[in-house]
Amino acid sequence: MTPRAVSAADEGLLNCHSCGLLSKNVPNAHDRCPRCGAHLHLRKPDSLARTWALLIAAFLLYIPANILPVMHTASIIYEEDDTIMSGVVYLWTSGSWPLAILVFCASVTVPLAKLIALSVLAWTAQHKSTWRQQERTRLYRLVEFVGRWSMLDIFVVTLMVGLVHFQSLATISAGPGAVAFAAVVVLTMFAAMSFDPRLIWDPEQKQDD
Ligand SMILES: [Zn+2]
Repeated sequence: MTPRAVSAADEGLLNCHSCGLLSKNVPNAHDRCPRCGAHLHLRKPDSLARTWALLIAAFLLYIPANILPVMHTASIIYEEDDTIMSGVVYLWTSGSWPLAILVFCASVTVPLAKLIALSVLAWTAQHKSTWRQQERTRLYRLVEFVGRWSMLDIFVVTLMVGLVHFQSLATISAGPGAVAFAAVVVLTMFAAMSFDPRLIWDPEQKQDD
């Protein structure tokens, strides 16, 4: 038999989000950290409501991010609008398939996978599920980690803009799809930040009591 897991909240212990100082027996919810003065919370306030709001906004913007042009190319001879997918197809057919795979993963697969993963985490936490808690905690860490590399796609676009400027007289500008895409990335990062992973382990305590 495994010993009963004790949470910090059960023991009246509270960690400061800013400086990491552990406070004991904090009497009310709006107390401040004695060392750095940051607000202390047992759990992030309205964590699930905020996460859902940001996730829904990100899901909605994912559609224009993929349908609207992300890149507008104009030269004397031609003018062209490119969406993420047409860019991927162009890269693939022109022979730079490693770049095509990179752009496809970074701008289509990864953002959607992150949105689905966060929805699963928020949904299961909301329904106080005890299903695969350890894997869910790992999934959360993975989503947070991937967040730091999501701007990779913007980087690729910038690189291409630089290359085209270098090679020809064409001008490239970002289309409305790029704005929507950047918004999806930022909203997803905020959604991951507002989700409190400690909520995954809360049902465990309630079951034991
Ligand atoms: Zn502090």
